[in-house]
Amino acid sequence: MSVLSGVSALVTGGTSGIGLATAMALAGRGADVAVAGRDEKRGRQVVAAIAEAGGTADFIAAELHGESSARELARAAVARFGRIDVLVNNAGVFPFGPTEQTTEADFDAVFGLNVRAPYFLVAELAPAMARRGHGAIVNVTTAAAAYGAAGLGLYGASKAALVLLTKAWAAEYGPHGVRVNAVSPGPTRTEGTAPRGAALDRAAMAGPARRPGTAEEIAEAIVFLASAEQSSFVHGAILPVDGGRAAV
Ligand code: NAP
Repeated sequence: MSVLSGVSALVTGGTSGIGLATAMALAGRGADVAVAGRDEKRGRQVVAAIAEAGGTADFIAAELHGESSARELARAAVARFGRIDVLVNNAGVFPFGPTEQTTEADFDAVFGLNVRAPYFLVAELAPAMARRGHGAIVNVTTAAAAYGAAGLGLYGASKAALVLLTKAWAAEYGPHGVRVNAVSPGPTRTEGTAPRGAALDRAAMAGPARRPGTAEEIAEAIVFLASAEQSSFVHGAILPVDGGRAAV
């Protein structure tokens, strides 16, 4: 039997990059996966790829910006699979730019997707996990949440909020059997970072691995934190998967 047989998972941003690789990896370990994203066509392709590999998945279209959209997505995922045991808060935007050029609308969009949506997904799903006495939540933060970088303040601040929430939720839900952890990726090749081109390689040179990560490498760490069998004593951890960037 696969390590995640009988487990239902919801992956936000499952149509691209790290989320797509995570949806594939969870399904490959036997989980039933609700793949959330905005792009219906890409969503259907992910579901088809998972089915072709012998897994089970469904696409749920969701534009995430805050409480109502998050609760609606969570309820749709529960309606589809009966319950959600694993939540991966992966969908995110990572704008880069000077503070003085950032509008309030930009600010709200970043915090809406990167902070408010995970917050209310957890609010909707964690209590039921706690009542069942088990569950896992994995948040996707970033190495840039831990240091000051010009042009990355808004993004870094939103993910720093998610880092703190990871620890707070571990304290809140951990005693009820729900493990809450995060992965903190370094520069990773995805559709989202493709426009950065060689700049991504240069950023990655700061870490001992001296290369960008792949979405599959991040997904493996997410699967580890999602699997009760593999990480049963891990609560409130922020796991760097960054080629060593946080260490040097
Ligand atoms: P990506 O390739 O750009 O994919 C982003 C995903 O988020 C897509 O599936 C997209 O869905 C979804 N999404 C975007 N805006 C959304 C919205 N408003 N509502 C709902 N879904 C939305 O990104 P990635 O590089 O894989 O990054 C994934 C996560 O890892 C993000 O949280 C990011 O901050 C974090 N991260 C990435 C890196 C990196 O170098 N790649 C490094 C550190 C942390 P649709 O396309 O279907 O709309």
